[in-house]
Amino acid sequence: MTFIDELITNNRAYADGYEPRHLDVSPSRRLAIVTCMDSRLDVFAALGLGDGEAHILRNAGGVITDDVIRSLAISQRKLGTREVMLIHHTDCGMQKLTDDSFRAELQAATGVAPAFAIESFTDAEADVRQSILRVRRSDFIPNRDVVRGFVYDVDTHRLHEVSVDSD
Ligand SMILES: [Zn+2]
Repeated sequence: MTFIDELITNNRAYADGYEPRHLDVSPSRRLAIVTCMDSRLDVFAALGLGDGEAHILRNAGGVITDDVIRSLAISQRKLGTREVMLIHHTDCGMQKLTDDSFRAELQAATGVAPAFAIESFTDAEADVRQSILRVRRSDFIPNRDVVRGFVYDVDTHRLHEVSVDSD
């Protein structure tokens, strides 16, 4: 029995606890959140979010890749979101590798260098600033007035806002 089998059992109990209902496909809070895949960040609990309220886009690092831009373009242009919240966090796995070393590792293991950028970083705040700028500079994303970035502390559970503008 794999852990996934356990989750399937959990889902039966979860579904049994709810009356069937239908929420709209467009997030009711008109918000998209981009964050890391980190297993310690429970986005819904940490932000007091409910089902149907926001899009949550996750990848290694919470990095603004072409695919995240693709999802934000769909989120805003087809599903009505207006605000973008970016969340990196302390003790991120992306701070424990470098682009060059991981690229070399992949090439040595497979014979093929990846076409994608690794997007590692050392300073989470600096990478949040980079991410805010990438969103703000993408014409594919029509609503860029509210693009805010944060670092979440995985130990204290607190958000710290990062500004790109000179204070
Ligand atoms: Zn992370």
